[in-house]
Amino acid sequence: MEAEDPFNNALTQLASITDLITIDNEYYEMLKSPRREVIVALPLKLGDGTSVTFTGYRVQHNNARGPYKGGIRYHPSVTLSEVKALAMWMTWKAAVIDIPFGGAKGGVAVDPKRLSNDDLERLTRKYVSALERDIGPEIDIPAPDLNTNPQTMAWMMNEYSRLHGHNVPAVVTGKPIEIGGSEGRAAATGRGVAICAREAVKKYLHSDMKDVSVAVQGFGNVGSNTVKSLMEMGAKIVAISDVVGGARPKGPRKYFEQSFSTLLEASNKLGSVSLIPNVDQISNEQVIETEADLLIPAALENQITENNAQKVKAKIVIEAANGPTTPMADKIMERRGIRLVPDILANSGGVLVSYFEWVQNLNRDHWTEEEVNNRLEHKMVHAFNEVVTLAEKDGIDLRRAALVLAVNKVVAAMKLSGWH
Ligand code: NAD
Repeated sequence: MEAEDPFNNALTQLASITDLITIDNEYYEMLKSPRREVIVALPLKLGDGTSVTFTGYRVQHNNARGPYKGGIRYHPSVTLSEVKALAMWMTWKAAVIDIPFGGAKGGVAVDPKRLSNDDLERLTRKYVSALERDIGPEIDIPAPDLNTNPQTMAWMMNEYSRLHGHNVPAVVTGKPIEIGGSEGRAAATGRGVAICAREAVKKYLHSDMKDVSVAVQGFGNVGSNTVKSLMEMGAKIVAISDVVGGARPKGPRKYFEQSFSTLLEASNKLGSVSLIPNVDQISNEQVIETEADLLIPAALENQITENNAQKVKAKIVIEAANGPTTPMADKIMERRGIRLVPDILANSGGVLVSYFEWVQNLNRDHWTEEEVNNRLEHKMVHAFNEVVTLAEKDGIDLRRAALVLAVNKVVAAMKLSGWH
């Protein structure tokens, strides 16, 4: 029985490349453990008068290549193991997309849907004041992740700035544009996923996006923006889903013919994509098993496992979420000839544009959306080609190629800096 523990999965992935690179045991040991793990108690008196103590985490995995960087998630199932895995993946991601950041991740074990906006704001401010010495523009720069958004980042920036007596926009990324956010940041992860999808379709299916069908699990920031970019490229979306359930369009064409904005508006109004008119409601499990050229998991980890990898019908899986595929599922799909574009490459557009935001903040600058998107396009295509070239040279899958590329860069920085 495979371990579904996210950090074990991250360690299994790391172990899978040790025969492909020369890595001193000393460095391998250092990479296996995060440099720091901070756990904070966040006592909060809620608006309804009850008192609850939430647990907050920040894990800093490695900063050999630059300040720690990584999102903050609010979710009831956040655990130390999950945050540790996500922090390690951030280290690899920043190295693959080649930006001068290390890897970190944070989270609070909370169901934000059960809190009022005021409670959420106070919880966010408590989290920042508890971690005030651990974060900073040159130390560790948080960003949005599951259930956090530009508003959360605005509160974080304001709290940190209040504690420091001056405005510090570069302490977080993914902020609203009005207070130093970057053009194109909100859509960046999804846009990057779609660019990877397009390149993978060209390379492996020798096809045009207009002839490609796609199933997407998750319709939050990443899922919805992936769908938007894919629709702009002409791809046919044949299934989408969110936490409530999934939807397949009815009718002869079997793909969503309405515009993206109509889809988004309907899902916002009705509370779920599964409630959009003229669809067959399906389960999230059925989304994974949809007959489509591409499958894009964009929700949570551990969605494609040894239990359903056999049923995946897509030719290519593009990992928009972090860690959606378990190591056992990887093996099953590889045996079945299904290509997989790994998370540390596919969803790196988010941290890339976060880096652009940080650079703009430090320079008191503001780039146009066109400039941001052009740079995103260039860096994503370059990283995709680097990973594909290495995979072909070494005869390995894209996940291991991306990891080899990343680990080599991180170890080189550790060695040059004299880490031992
Ligand atoms: P989000 O909170 O905006 O959206 C999450 C989506 O997943 C929602 O549609 C939600 O309904 C759905 N979902 C939740 N639980 C589900 C379940 N059990 N089954 C099916 N769907 C479910 O979060 P997001 O920012 O879009 O993040 C999604 C994934 O992408 C996460 O793995 C995150 O770590 C990763 N990611 C996010 C970013 C970013 O910039 N936001 C960057 C890189 C990676």
